[in-house]
Amino acid sequence: MKKFLMLIGFITQLFSGKTQKIDFSSYPVYNGNDLGLTYTPSESIFKIWSPVASGAELIMYDSGIEGIQTGKYTMKEQDNGIWAVTVRGDQKGKFYAFRVQVAKKWLNEVPDPYAKIVGVNGRRAMVADLRSSDPAGWENDQSPVFKNETDAIIYEIHIRDASISSNSGIQHKGKFLGLTETGTKNINGLSTGIDHIKELGITHVHLLPCFDYNSIDETKSGPAYNWGYDPLNYDAPEGSYATDPYNGLVRIKEFKQLIKTFHENGLRVVMDVVYNHTALTENSNFNQLVPGYYYRQNKEGGFSNATACGNETASERPMFRKFMLESMKYWVKEYHVDGFRVDLMGVHDIETMNLISKELHELKPDILIYGEGWTAGASPLADSVRAIKANAWKLDKIAVFSDDIRDGIKGSVFEHKEKGFASGRTEMEESIKFGITAACRHPQVNYAKVNYSKSSYAAQPSQVISYCSCHDNHTLWDKLVISTPYIDEQVRTDMHKLALSIVLTSQGISFLHAGTEFMRSKKGVENSFESPDSINAIDWDLKSKNKDVFDYIKELIKLRKEHPAFRMTRQEDIASGIIFRSNLPEGLLSFTIDGTLSGDSWKKIQVFFNGSGKQQPIIIPKNWNAAVLNNVVTDINEKILSSIDLKPYSCTILYQKE
Ligand code: CA
Repeated sequence: MKKFLMLIGFITQLFSGKTQKIDFSSYPVYNGNDLGLTYTPSESIFKIWSPVASGAELIMYDSGIEGIQTGKYTMKEQDNGIWAVTVRGDQKGKFYAFRVQVAKKWLNEVPDPYAKIVGVNGRRAMVADLRSSDPAGWENDQSPVFKNETDAIIYEIHIRDASISSNSGIQHKGKFLGLTETGTKNINGLSTGIDHIKELGITHVHLLPCFDYNSIDETKSGPAYNWGYDPLNYDAPEGSYATDPYNGLVRIKEFKQLIKTFHENGLRVVMDVVYNHTALTENSNFNQLVPGYYYRQNKEGGFSNATACGNETASERPMFRKFMLESMKYWVKEYHVDGFRVDLMGVHDIETMNLISKELHELKPDILIYGEGWTAGASPLADSVRAIKANAWKLDKIAVFSDDIRDGIKGSVFEHKEKGFASGRTEMEESIKFGITAACRHPQVNYAKVNYSKSSYAAQPSQVISYCSCHDNHTLWDKLVISTPYIDEQVRTDMHKLALSIVLTSQGISFLHAGTEFMRSKKGVENSFESPDSINAIDWDLKSKNKDVFDYIKELIKLRKEHPAFRMTRQEDIASGIIFRSNLPEGLLSFTIDGTLSGDSWKKIQVFFNGSGKQQPIIIPKNWNAAVLNNVVTDINEKILSSIDLKPYSCTILYQKE
């Protein structure tokens, strides 16, 4: 019954104080691509969609936040729910908002969802020529070359965290421009900021929300903090990261400058996008223009809440689907973004995600799209049609995060004291094997013993993000501290190295949380979305303190990039080319990779993960060279081994060239 109600779009909704049944499927659809502002120096055309309105007005101001209105224009109704008005003359520098009349009541003034340039705190949109937001040389900006999805090594970072610490050596602390500064160093002369990211060798910088979000008051210069998962204006950058949040062009120009600098340094840029809910519910831009339409409803007629944020958007409705698609295409075309991480992608329907993937790949064939294949609560839309992890195989060129390998490595993110394979829990081998094979079907994985998924869900390795920590939950180091309280710090450091070794030698797409390469801590804070800088800032002194860990991770990244055997592109090659050793002692995992399948210079690779606290001697039957020996990258190419003592919590990688 619930499903029936949702699919045909009949709902009950509190509307002007009365409960009415609304048939959203009867709303006309507009197919044009000119919603919002179309600016020329001679005129500005404004267009919004509101099929339920009986009147609509454009209201103009000289300021983005205060002051009296300087113009009010009645909009004219056109076909398919469109309201439009043309204002003659050059309106550059003016701010504007809209309001519509529904059921004889004028709703709140809001910028339209398609607003591209907004004033401080995103309360009004701004008229300007977008071309004047281009930094010098923007027309020559080019993304670095990128071939297969599985070549990606993603580095997830928050704009403010990257530079706000007093030891970052960066001038524009907490701003977009902070990561455009090259030559920055910590007190020991080690690189920080973008130079550090480049030195690490990753391929994609994944930025936590950079679109305009609601939680930070941009008029204040104090140390306010938020991750930014509370969207306000989807198509404009966040103002608190700009040097001037009042002039809507500045944030655009500075964000473009950041993307251009990343590109010049060989780094591609992924935006974290949050279309699954809006910060405001009743009062959101969407809801004040077309009440109810853009959101799913529960059976009582209220806002359903699969996001645990008070509402969930309705990607299956044509005008929200269109909005998501156009918004993401806009970021690619206007900002040259190279990929998207889709927050709570499991809220969105598969048809919408596949349409988005198709059109984005037409626009940029090497774009990278991945998301969280889950929700934060129950949705009225059936599981079978949503982009959840179990449906990953139905998604077209879209990857999902593997919480199976994440928690297999270090223990459940919800059970703080629980250990994982890398911290000595011995029954996690099958979960690690599931991760090594990137959730692709493999004859040697015993799916019944995998922690979460009882069957493979990826059709290809490009559909899986292999990781063990991200901005959510404890950092890897903090999780190890909490779950292994009584061990020596050096032993824990080996666990940390082993955990990241598993990530970087697993098939699929690698993903690292910024700072994990030098054992970042958030001082035990699990959910730091609004914690102060003292918790969230990246402490660049850790790079000096844990230099050996940083060097190790850097070398592992180099090794992964040099050896395609760790990033195969076909499920069948993983199924036949990876062979797990059997009859090993508890806590020891070993597999070989056939390098010939991916054209690797190493014909055969043998990997050992010792997840136990015991030293494990192992006989090597033929002659092998060591690339990594007990968590140390070796360059003894000629070394011939016949037996090895595998130290506790260690990774060893051997190879044969012939
Ligand atoms: Ca904002």
